[in-house]
Amino acid sequence: MPDRTPRGAVAGERPTCSGVTAAGVACRSKVLAGGVFCVAHDPAKRGLMQDARRKGAVTTNKLRVIEGKRRKLGSAVDLIAFTSDVVQDVIAGTVLPDVARAALYGISIQRQLIEASDIEQRLAALEQHGTATHQGGRPTWGH
Ligand SMILES: [Zn+2]
Repeated sequence: MPDRTPRGAVAGERPTCSGVTAAGVACRSKVLAGGVFCVAHDPAKRGLMQDARRKGAVTTNKLRVIEGKRRKLGSAVDLIAFTSDVVQDVIAGTVLPDVARAALYGISIQRQLIEASDIEQRLAALEQHGTATHQGGRPTWGH
């Protein structure tokens, strides 16, 4: 029966990297074909790796910022937290005043909507309570 193990899968076929990790220990990654370093430690690949890492970091940061701003704004507590973030971001200079103005305008609309739906819910609850207690009879408040 012939050995069909793929190339590179046999332990020890390729030597390990001559580089040293950030932790100061010998790198244990396999070397690139014909080299003595792995992809992370090969001087020829260093620029590539740094570029990739930098791009990755920038994208991650952007996503983090966007995710951070995409908050739930369905309750007064949410609005308070978001508003204070926006105000602090403007002061810190990480959010442009125009963006903040638009965001805070949206918050004021959101607040009205929350208040309106809150009042609707309370009215509905009151009405239900009313019909349940009076069974269709007249309310008993006097003249
Ligand atoms: Zn290495």
